[in-house]
This record gives sequence, structure tokens and C-alpha cells, in this order.
Amino acid sequence: MSAPEKKLVRSKSGLRMIPVNNVDVSPFTISEPPWVPDNECVVCMNSSCRAKFDFRRRRHHCRRCGRCFCNSCCDSKVPLNRMCFVDPVRQCNVCVEVSRKENEFFDKHLKTLCNGGDFVLKESGDEIEGSSSTFRCKLSTDNRTVTFESNHDKHEPIQMERLESVQILTGGVDAEVFPRLDDDGNMVASGIAMKYQNHSSDKNMVKLVINPTSTNKREGQMWIAAMQKAFKLIHETRMLDKP
Ligand SMILES: [Zn+2]
Ligand SMILES: [Zn+2]
Repeated sequence: MSAPEKKLVRSKSGLRMIPVNNVDVSPFTISEPPWVPDNECVVCMNSSCRAKFDFRRRRHHCRRCGRCFCNSCCDSKVPLNRMCFVDPVRQCNVCVEVSRKENEFFDKHLKTLCNGGDFVLKESGDEIEGSSSTFRCKLSTDNRTVTFESNHDKHEPIQMERLESVQILTGGVDAEVFPRLDDDGNMVASGIAMKYQNHSSDKNMVKLVINPTSTNKREGQMWIAAMQKAFKLIHETRMLDKP
């Protein structure tokens, strides 16, 4: 699948590169906030600053939250992938931290997801040994779907927007291959369970289990960790968008 066609648009906050078609919008995208009007704020909105605005101390709007700050509380310019800005944009001290964490996701984990991982797929209720198939699971380049590639079998793609929950699996059926804890006492993922709605809105669940015979279990573990982060980003956005 090729990347969707995009166009440049200019908003008051800066240049944005967005898909030509609305259906191609990434599930990680969040919308620009309305700006707090200048006449509604006489002091910096950082509660531990509250500096009064005048002709020398000017107002600056955070591009991420839309609130109004003095220069020293809003002087960092940081990439804001989720609003599709081409260049780094001005953000308040609180938002800068959130964006930096997200940028780590975009720089690293998103690539892991698109690169893919090899998993044994178990459908819900599918407990019979030997009935499972091995797939390469990938996030599509438009970030909207998880696809399943195999020479022998087919599985419906999962829409990221229709993902309802993810759960990390540890130990379990493959406990002998995957100890629950690593040498440092951290939980070791052996797989991930994903609950989703399919195209006819039926609820479904798949378990993706790292292939016990895989020579590259680390890749699978990284993919699982990245999927958990991806779900968290989308889930938080759903919460924010609720009226
Ligand atoms: Zn902010
Ligand atoms: Zn301030």
C-alpha cells in the first residue's frame, strides 16, 4: 500500500501537510485547538507564573493546547507530528513534555510497527493446538490498518480506529519458552491480545503470540510494546474528543 496523497495547508499556527482525502487521515492525528482569545487573558495562564501582559510582555499561544502564555512559559519550538505541522511549533512547557514523548513514538515505535513482526495467530476460542497459523503483522504506511501476511492463510485486516483494547500476554501456554520475568525482574511479553470490531461491526479478538521457534523474538517484543503505545495514543485522543 502506498502512502496517501498529501497537500500543504496554512493555518494560523503554521504549515501543515495533510492527506488530500479525509479517509486517509492517520488515526494518530489530533485537531488544532481553538485559541483562547487575547481579551480573555490578562495574565500568563501558567498558574505558577501569572505574569501580567502589557506592551512589553506579549501573549504567545501554545499550538498544542491553545492557551495563552508569556514568552518564558511558552518559548520552545518542538515538532508536533500529531497535528501534521511541517516545522517545529511553539508549545507551552507542559505540552512540550507530552510532544517529546510522542515524538519518540513517531521516530522509533511507529517504524517498528510498519516494519512488522512474525506472530502465531490464535483466534478467540481457538484453543486447538496446531490450528494456528504464522503471519507477518504490519501497520500499513497510512497507519490505519494492521495487515496479516502469510503464504498459506488469510486474516482480515484490523482497523486501528476499531481497536477496542490491547492486552499484553505473558508466559501462558508458552511459559516454558517465555519465562514471565527476565533477568532484571521485568515482565516478558509472549504475545498480545487485540479486541476489535470487524467491518460488519462484530466484536472479535485475536491473540498474536511470538513464534517460539523464531530466531528474532526481540522484534516481536518490540512490535508488541509499540502496538501498546499506539493504542494508548489513539485511546487518549478518543477520550479528549468526547464532548
Ligand atoms: Zn500547551
Ligand atoms: Zn508565564
